[in-house]
Amino acid sequence: MLTSNFNEENSMTEHSQVIEEYLLTLYKLNRAGDLAKAVTLAKRLDTSPPTVHATISRMQRDGLVEVKKSKELVLTKEGQKIAEDIAYRHNLSEYFLCNTLGIPWYEVHQHAHRLEHAMTPIVVQKLAEFLGKPEFCPHGTPMPGTNLPENTITLMESKPGTTVEIAMIGEALEDSVDLMKILHEHRIMPGNLHKVLEKTEVMRTVSLESKDGTSSLPFHVAEKIFVLEVPKD
Ligand SMILES: [Zn+2]
Ligand SMILES: [Zn+2]
Repeated sequence: MLTSNFNEENSMTEHSQVIEEYLLTLYKLNRAGDLAKAVTLAKRLDTSPPTVHATISRMQRDGLVEVKKSKELVLTKEGQKIAEDIAYRHNLSEYFLCNTLGIPWYEVHQHAHRLEHAMTPIVVQKLAEFLGKPEFCPHGTPMPGTNLPENTITLMESKPGTTVEIAMIGEALEDSVDLMKILHEHRIMPGNLHKVLEKTEVMRTVSLESKDGTSSLPFHVAEKIFVLEVPKD
């Protein structure tokens, strides 16, 4: 029983690292509500459009992705399953690197990015058990199958005068360690409270105040930070 299970899962992880990367990127675009097309993938993966087209054809042939008439790329059931598996391995690795090995939360993404492709199903299972089956990565991203609370909004949508609790740093921001360090310096991390001071169209910034001081973030970053409004008492 255990053996057959293992083999089944094993065949799921046989895809090349490149294919896994594509699946994960499509999954993230999907999760962020962004339209996924070959051009978007080329940009995100910093790859030439012809290469992307060739890989997409291969994935189409293998039944991992469908290309709609609108050129939108949609994961098949199989593709979605594998993507969730990689996303899980990624988030679990980040949690381990941060909470067990003590690597700062603002740079675990880069390391997890390597590790996620090297983990066998038994390692994933044992690591999850060892870590107590965490539900979120250190950036607040929910594991596949878990969701953020329904009343989560972006920092951009929050109203000046309200206090917010940081819920999640959008995955697109994790790619820049420099930016993540700035967020860290200003204590903009999951669980921390900040008061929204103002949003200025002229400077295109949102300014915040916490017990550690004030900070201001450009709109394009504020759009990718997810928060929960703290009710006034
Ligand atoms: Zn990450
Ligand atoms: Zn993360």
